[in-house]
Amino acid sequence: MFATLSDRLTATFKNLRGKGRLSDEDIDATAREIRVALLEADVALPVVKDFIAAVKERARGAEVSQALNPAQQVIQIVNDELVRILGGETRRLRFAKQPPTVIMLAGLQGAGKTTLAGKLAMWLKSQGKQPLLVAADLQRPNAVTQLQVVGERAGVAVWAPEPGNGVGDPVAVARSSIEHATSKLYDVVVVDTAGRLGVDEEMMRQAADIRDAVKPDETLFVVDAMIGQDAVTTATAFLEGVGFDGVVLTKLDGDARGGAALSVASVTGRPVMFASAGEKLTDFDVFHPERMASRILDLGDMLTLIEQAQKAFDADQAEEMARKLSAKGGKDFTFDDFLQQMQAIKKMGSFKSLLGMLPGAGQMREALESFDERELDRVQAIVHSMTPAERDNPKIINGSRRARIARGSGRQVSEVNQLIERFFMAREMMSQAARGKLGGLGNMPGM
Ligand code: GDP
Repeated sequence: MFATLSDRLTATFKNLRGKGRLSDEDIDATAREIRVALLEADVALPVVKDFIAAVKERARGAEVSQALNPAQQVIQIVNDELVRILGGETRRLRFAKQPPTVIMLAGLQGAGKTTLAGKLAMWLKSQGKQPLLVAADLQRPNAVTQLQVVGERAGVAVWAPEPGNGVGDPVAVARSSIEHATSKLYDVVVVDTAGRLGVDEEMMRQAADIRDAVKPDETLFVVDAMIGQDAVTTATAFLEGVGFDGVVLTKLDGDARGGAALSVASVTGRPVMFASAGEKLTDFDVFHPERMASRILDLGDMLTLIEQAQKAFDADQAEEMARKLSAKGGKDFTFDDFLQQMQAIKKMGSFKSLLGMLPGAGQMREALESFDERELDRVQAIVHSMTPAERDNPKIINGSRRARIARGSGRQVSEVNQLIERFFMAREMMSQAARGKLGGLGNMPGM
């Protein structure tokens, strides 16, 4: 998502490189290019106008910084403005002082509400909460069953109408769920409401009735990032009809232009709080405007990367690796460690998505697209064909051993050679980093 926008903007910044000072013409030309980039990405017109006016004003007013060159200053300004239209600071979920906290989900049918209920429930569990999902979508056949399936996958309880009892009255179901949650000590209630294919009065009235019955602490408007400009109109309609506190963007994994999704927060004045980028229950996270902005500007998203790494590696294991890498020029780091590390990385998600968070990833997009996730399986097969002595001390792997390993793993000798070479290189680099020789991440590209 946002690949085209990202490409266009980084290309614009490239033109500014090497300039000592920005003339008014430079600023105008840059502003024009940014404008086209935003419009092509489907960002809503009023948002674009506002954005460009702010960029121009700030670039002219040249908060002239000694530390940044003109290109860097423009990147900084565009970055700040992107953060601003996305809602500014990270807006975290607010929990009620008196549980249960009630969260209501609203949005069109197909926006991803039911899936999101499951994702949110998983996330809440990881925050130490005990959520209860409520099936108040009685419009769509199967919606109740779908929520039950999602709840089961997430390992959380679901409150649904008993067949023949309260069926057809979502307001009653929603109301009774709060009583149930209070008596059974659930601390968060997530109410899934019915959507329609388009905005209609009946849907709005029902959502408003449910809202009045459950008095949500947070109402989240769920919107499919791939629906283009409709996202903005739908959001405005929901804001008037039901009201909401925050926006959840779904399907950010799609390849549509997605700029409309960038406009929703700005147009409604409600921040994006969560984003979801895939059909798996774990493809979901708190939305951080500043991280999204740096991803769009190809400045990398190191914070998310680090957080994911912390989730995948346990602290003892990480410490042990660091110790092995920093002593004796990294000689204690073996192929088994290498494999273990790769497996931990695999747990963090696909390599593609991980690499995509590195600064400059936009420039290697083609290589990323063609990256074959099965590469990890091949590496694993090769390492498994090594003897324990070889894994501990890869230096002993001579020509005949390489041929044997290739035969054992069903790979080519050249692949074995390549892997061993990569191992030594990676060990050398990691060992230098562990000893603090690499000095940060080096220069950010494009700056
Ligand atoms: P609801 O009608 O709003 O409850 O929407 P659903 O939860 O049923 O979702 C509609 C469809 O979108 C389903 O096929 C989901 O699997 C899919 N979906 C939901 N969220 C995402 C997402 O983040 N990425 C992708 N690719 N698909 C999603």
